Amino acid sequence: LKETTFTASSSDSRKKKIAVMTSGGDSQGMNAAVRAVVRAGIFHGCDVFAVYEGYSGLVHGKDLIKKMEWEDVRGWLALGGTLIGTARCAEFRERWGRLAGAKNMITNGIDALVVCGGDGSLTGADLFRAEWPSLVEELVRKGEFTEEEVAPYKHLTIVGLVGSIDNDMSGTDSTIGANSSLERIREMVDYIDATATSHSRAFVVEVMGRHCGWLALNAGIATGADYIFIPERAANPLTWKEELKEVCRRHREKGRRKTTVIVAEGALDSDLRPITSEDVKNVLVDLGLDTRITTLGHVQRGGTAVASDRLLATLQGVEAVKAVLDLTPEDPSPLIGILENKIVRQPLVDAVKLTKSVATAIESKDFDKAISLRNTDFIESYDNFLSISQYDDGSHLLPADKQLNIAIVHVGASSAALNAATRSFVLYALSKGHTPYAIQNGFSGLIRHGSVKKLDWIDVEDWHGIGGSLIGTNRSLPSLDLGTVAYYFQKLKFDGLIIVGGFEGFTALHELSEARKQFPIFNIPLTLIPSTVSNNVPGTEYSLGSDTCLNSLVDYCDAIKQSASASRRRVFVVEVQGGHSGYVASYIGLVTGAVAVYTPEDRVSLKTIQEDIELLKENYNQDQGENRSGKMLIRNETASTIFTTELIADIIQESSNEKFETRTAIPGHVQQGGAPTAVDRVNASRFAIKCAKFIEQWNGKINDNDLDGSDKGLRFKFYHGKKVSTVGDNEKSAAVIGIKGSELKFTDIESLWDHEANIELRKGNTIHWESLTAIGDVLSGRLLLRNRR
Ligand code: ATP
Repeated sequence: LKETTFTASSSDSRKKKIAVMTSGGDSQGMNAAVRAVVRAGIFHGCDVFAVYEGYSGLVHGKDLIKKMEWEDVRGWLALGGTLIGTARCAEFRERWGRLAGAKNMITNGIDALVVCGGDGSLTGADLFRAEWPSLVEELVRKGEFTEEEVAPYKHLTIVGLVGSIDNDMSGTDSTIGANSSLERIREMVDYIDATATSHSRAFVVEVMGRHCGWLALNAGIATGADYIFIPERAANPLTWKEELKEVCRRHREKGRRKTTVIVAEGALDSDLRPITSEDVKNVLVDLGLDTRITTLGHVQRGGTAVASDRLLATLQGVEAVKAVLDLTPEDPSPLIGILENKIVRQPLVDAVKLTKSVATAIESKDFDKAISLRNTDFIESYDNFLSISQYDDGSHLLPADKQLNIAIVHVGASSAALNAATRSFVLYALSKGHTPYAIQNGFSGLIRHGSVKKLDWIDVEDWHGIGGSLIGTNRSLPSLDLGTVAYYFQKLKFDGLIIVGGFEGFTALHELSEARKQFPIFNIPLTLIPSTVSNNVPGTEYSLGSDTCLNSLVDYCDAIKQSASASRRRVFVVEVQGGHSGYVASYIGLVTGAVAVYTPEDRVSLKTIQEDIELLKENYNQDQGENRSGKMLIRNETASTIFTTELIADIIQESSNEKFETRTAIPGHVQQGGAPTAVDRVNASRFAIKCAKFIEQWNGKINDNDLDGSDKGLRFKFYHGKKVSTVGDNEKSAAVIGIKGSELKFTDIESLWDHEANIELRKGNTIHWESLTAIGDVLSGRLLLRNRR
C-alpha cells in the first residue's frame, strides 16, 4: 500500500480513454471498484466510460456505453450488487461479437478496458486483447474505419480486477466480494446457532462455491462448525458417513448442544459423485439428531460490501488506472490482486490458467494437487480447521515429554476477537496434549488473586462468536509485581505464554522479555497476538478486532450519511477512536466516502478546514435532484487539541452562509464491542495456532542436541524435574506475530521496541496506512481542489 503515490493530476500527459465494466456473477464491492476507476481516471485526466450489462454493453454499444462524470458515482460505496449491471453474454464468445465490441470501443475512442469479473470474464478479456490487432484490421478491411482512424488504436490495454464471491482466483488472496459473502454466511449461521442450541438440533448449511471451497472452509472456522465438505478435499465414499457421525457424536458427548455442518454446493466424494445437503442430513438423522437444512442461496451475494471489500475494490480500482497509464504494449495484461496486505500485479493469463488447473485437477481426481494449487493459506486454513474441529479424537497427541503448559492472557482494552483467539488456541493445544491455562483478569488478576484456570473443550466450544473477553481483560502490566508473576509461572510450570492485546500487550511482552535477566523463569517463548481496534501495534499492519470495529463504523457511517442525505442540508462530523493513530479514521473515511479525514498524522489547520468547506459547497452545488448524498467528515479523537469535533462542526456551520447545518456524532465504545466478524475470527484462529506452534518449536529446541548457531549458548534450568536448556538467551523467542506487506511473520519484541515503536504516542514509527489518506483525498476530490488552487 505504501507504494501508491499521487504525483499525476489532470495535466497528466498520458491521457487515456478507459472503459470499466462488471461481468459474470455480481459481487459486493463491484460498485466501489467502478467508483474508484471512474474517479482515479478523472483525477489523472482520463475520460472514463462505464460499459453497462457486461460484455453485452460492449457488443451492442450505443446507450450501454456511457461517459462517467465525477458525481455519477457519488454514494456508490454503500450500495450492493453492481449499478452498471452485469450479464452473461454468449455473443462475446463468438468472434463476430468481439468484432462488434472492438467497433464500439473505437467509435467511442476507448483504448483501455478494465474488467471486474470472474475467471470467465477475464479469459474473454485476454482473448479480446490477443485478437485486437486482427479485429482492427478486419474493421478496416470491411470499411468500418480508415487506416488513419484506427492508427491510435493499434494496442488494447486490458486490466483485470477479480470480482467474485467464491475467492477462486489464483494470484490473489482475496477477490472482491469474498469477505462480504463470508460475513453474510457468518451472520446467518450465528442466527441459526441460537435456535439450534435451543432445540439441540443439527443444521446442515449449504453455501455457494461450485468449484471452490474457500467460503465453506472459512465459514467452518468462523462459525465453529463440526464438519465441512469442500470440493478440494473430496470425501472418501466408503468412510465419510461414519467419520461425520463419529465427529458429531464425540462433540455431543463432550456437551455441545448443537451440530453445524457446512456443505459447499460443489462438494463431492473422490469418485466425483456430489455430496448434497440431503445426503449429509440423512447421515445426521441416522445418528438420531433432529436435523434441518438451510440453503443460504443468494443472500450470500446480497447487501452492502463489508469494509475490507470496499477497501480492496477501491485500492484495486485505483491501481488499475495506474496500470493502464504505466503499461507498454509489450507488457502482459495484469490482474490486480492482493497478497496479505499488499496490492500486487500478476500476469492475467497465468492467474487464469492456474485457476482453471484446479478444476482440471479435481476432474482428474488429483485432490492433493487441487488443494496445493490454491493459495498457501488455503492448506493452512484447512489444517487449522481440522485442528479445532476434528483432532480432539486424540489422533494428534504429542509424546508426553513434548506436552507443554501454555498460558494465555488478555491485556488492555476489549476488542472483538479475544475469545475467538483463545478458543482456537485452547482447542489446538488440547489436540496436541498440552495444558492450556487462562490467566484471568489480566496480570492484576494473577498478581492479586492468582487467578488461573485450566480451560477444557466444553469451556470454549462456543467462544468463536462472543465479543469481549470471557477470561477478563484490563490494562495492568507485569511490572505491577514481576516477582509474583514469576512465582506463578514457576509454580504452574509454564512453557510458553500468549498475550492477546494492543499496545499494553506490547508493553507487557517487552517487560517480561526484559525481566528475563532478573527472573530466568521468563526464559520461555513469549508471544503477542496484536488485538486492538486502533491497529497501532508495531510489527503488524493488522490487529484482531480492527475488522469488527471498521464494520460497525461502516454501518454507523452509512446510516449517518443516509440520514444526512434525507435532511439534505446536514453535514456530520463523526469522531472515531484510534488513540494517536489515524488508521481507523483514514480507513473509514476512504470506505464510506467522507469529504475529509482529520488524523493526528496530518496537521489540522484552519486552512485545511477552509478548503474542506469549499469542497462541501462544491459538492452541494453538484447535488441535483435525486442525485444527492449525505456529507460526512471523519475526525480521529486525538487529531488536534484545538480543533475539537465540536469546534470543527461549529466552524463549518458558521461558514456555510446558512447553506447547510452541522451535527456531530460519536459512536464511542460501539467500536470495541459486538460479535467478531468472520475475518477477525478466521485470523484469530490463524494467529493463535501459529503462536502455539511457535511455542512448540522453541520448546522443541530445548530437547534438541543439535542446536544451530543462533541458538548456541542457551542456559539450563530444571523443568518437570529434568535439566533442559532454555530459550531465553535468544531474544527472538519473545515475539509479535503480524502481517507486514505480503508476509505473515514473527518479529522479536526487542527490535520492535528499540527501532519501530513510538512509546510516547503508543504506535509504530511506520505509518503503514499512509496511502489510505492519500487515496481518500484523491477520491473525495480534496486533492483535485488543492491542485486547482
Ligand atoms: P463467475 O465467477 O461469477 O462465474 P465469470 O466471469 O467466470 O464469473 P462467466 O459466465 O464464465 O462468469 O463469464 C462471463 C462472461 O465472460 C461470459 O458470459 C462471456 O461473455 C465472457 N466469456 C467467458 N469466457 C469467455 C471466453 N472463453 N471467450 C470469450 N468470452 C468469454
